[in-house]
Amino acid sequence: MIKTKNTYNRVKFKLFAAFLFLIFFTSIPLYKYSKDKQNQMIRTYVEKTNDAFTEFISSDLITSMRQTREILKVYSSSPLLRDMDKKSLKSTLRKIVRSNDLFKAAGLYNHRKTLVTKTKNFEDIRNMDNLYSKTFLHVFGINLFDKSTNSLQIKSDNAEYRVLITKDQRIVGALIVQLDMSYFQEKLNELKNHFDYTNDYANVYILDESNRIIASSKSSSHPVDSIFPPLESFEKEKYIKKLKDSKGGEDAPPWKVIFVPKDTAYKNMEDFEQFFSVSMTIFIFFAIFLGWRVSKMITRPLSKLLWAVKQISKGDLDTPISSHSGDEIGVLAGKFDEMRVNLKDYQDHLKKKISELQILYQVGSIISEELDYNHLLTTILNTVIDVMGAEKGSIMIYDESTKMLKIASAKGLKHSVVRQTVLASGESIAGHVFQSKEPMLVYDTMKSQDFIKIKRRKVTPGTMLSVPLVYKDNSLGVINISKPMPYSFNDFDLNLFQAIANICATAIENARLYKLAITDEMTNLYIRRFFYQSMNQHMLKKDASFSLIMLDIDHFKNFNDTYGHATGDKVLIQVAQIIASSVRDCDVPCRLGGEEFAIICPNQRANEAIIPSNRLKKLINSAVIEVPDGSEVQIGISIGISEYPHDGKTIDELYEAVDKALYYSKENGRNQVTVYKDLPKSKDS
Ligand code: GH3
Ligand code: MG
Ligand code: MG
Repeated sequence: MIKTKNTYNRVKFKLFAAFLFLIFFTSIPLYKYSKDKQNQMIRTYVEKTNDAFTEFISSDLITSMRQTREILKVYSSSPLLRDMDKKSLKSTLRKIVRSNDLFKAAGLYNHRKTLVTKTKNFEDIRNMDNLYSKTFLHVFGINLFDKSTNSLQIKSDNAEYRVLITKDQRIVGALIVQLDMSYFQEKLNELKNHFDYTNDYANVYILDESNRIIASSKSSSHPVDSIFPPLESFEKEKYIKKLKDSKGGEDAPPWKVIFVPKDTAYKNMEDFEQFFSVSMTIFIFFAIFLGWRVSKMITRPLSKLLWAVKQISKGDLDTPISSHSGDEIGVLAGKFDEMRVNLKDYQDHLKKKISELQILYQVGSIISEELDYNHLLTTILNTVIDVMGAEKGSIMIYDESTKMLKIASAKGLKHSVVRQTVLASGESIAGHVFQSKEPMLVYDTMKSQDFIKIKRRKVTPGTMLSVPLVYKDNSLGVINISKPMPYSFNDFDLNLFQAIANICATAIENARLYKLAITDEMTNLYIRRFFYQSMNQHMLKKDASFSLIMLDIDHFKNFNDTYGHATGDKVLIQVAQIIASSVRDCDVPCRLGGEEFAIICPNQRANEAIIPSNRLKKLINSAVIEVPDGSEVQIGISIGISEYPHDGKTIDELYEAVDKALYYSKENGRNQVTVYKDLPKSKDS
């Protein structure tokens, strides 16, 4: 047994899972592509902004730097400083500082590397950064290395220097001007506000050649690596614009400008991620919904098919399996429906066969109980009419002596028709069926030309079926049935009817043989053996009661002697006919032998049996008996009656009793009726 529901669910689940799998795995490259695109966008945006900043700042910066160098050049060649006139030195240095916004402080060293004088805020050169220390070292050939700390004091700051040289090329000292880069901070902030790309979180930095920040749009002491966003994809060198590469040329200081978008870039990225996650969620929900719909779409015809197949498995073959889809499931459904139709046909066929068998069994069991030939024919006809749903019917039996077909049993036919209908073999429908041994179905008696031709008589409207009664290739007769409505019988009925007729033919033949075996050939009455058998049967019945009448022709030996044996035979036949025609249907008339007859009269007391006995005596007495000389004679008959169980509880006792009664009739002058229980006591013993 297939667990259809589980299978179905599994198919739906699999389809759904496959769909989701597909969605997820297509969305991953999509996400990656979008992210790359976003990075690209940020990069372009940063580059553009950076270019613009560098462009603006560099010219300003370079101009300022040129100016400072020009100033320093002028002062360094002035005798005011070279002479190291202590009185004027301080005011000259102050003058220098004031001459340019960029100058923060100035200091003058002599050739002994000693700070001669300085302005306010000037920081000792030994505390200054590596670059200027190195320069100073180079210029003076002096090691400023701090031996006590074993390191150079490095500080982020900027300075310009000039070496003071006399006319005879003697170094007298050095002028150091420290720069105030906060000037640039203002400049940068001012610039930053001009750009749409930037916001408060963005930053512009100016870096020296060692990547130290020398100016920024806001004060920052972070090392340059920490100010970059942790964006792996950012190649930071790209965003560092060297002033030399822009307008500065060789003259420009070796500084760089860097624009760091910081949160702006993140902000965009965050916006994108938010947008992406929202649209991804919507997309996934939509995908789930779509997946559900698609899997349902695929599994719905499948589930319909499963339902229909289940109906079939329950035995319902009437519900058609419909499928409008042209796919494999549709084809499958179509094939299943074909299978259903075939099964249904087969089932119908089987049902018909079963009902046919049931009918045959029913007919068989009904007729098998019947041994009496005439009763059998009546039973057969009634059963056939009943099971075939016919209205009228007849059984015609072929009489070997007359070579004619005669109606042996009929229903729904007029008595005159029954009596008069005698057909030769091949004559009319029944004669034709009898002769050909082929059944005949006339769908519409009014329209069938063959039927009209064969029948050659008045045609009654309706459907007619006629089948031969064939036993061991011998035609015994025919059974005819009819219905007043045309097309009331079909080929199936014809086959069934023929099958029934075949069983009946066997039963009829058996009954005929049995009748022959138990009937006296000359008188057509039952023989002595059957007389005993019948009496035995009656005795076995519950509360059985019957009378036994015994008859013996008077002085029959004399009759034979007088008129001849042949005439005696005629008398015997005549007497038998009188007995047979005057007894009841239930009575059993027998010829016990010679000119002795007996009648078993069921459910009849001896007193009651006197009446038919006297009637018989009268009929036999008054019978016209023709003798060879042409004259007519009368015969007498003696009758005895006994009663079961009153006069005897066994066959022998009962027979003895009736024999005694008959003997009494003979003894008392013959041609009279004696009842055993009325015998005088003296005679009885
Ligand atoms: P009763 O009975 O009156 O005493 O005289 P009965 O002459 O009838 O006596 P019984 O019963 O002895 O005679 C019977 C005779 O019936 C003998 C025989 O000739 C005759 N009979 C027996 N069977 C046949 C038969 O088959 N055909 C003819 N024709 N006669 C038969
Ligand atoms: Mg006798
Ligand atoms: Mg006799």
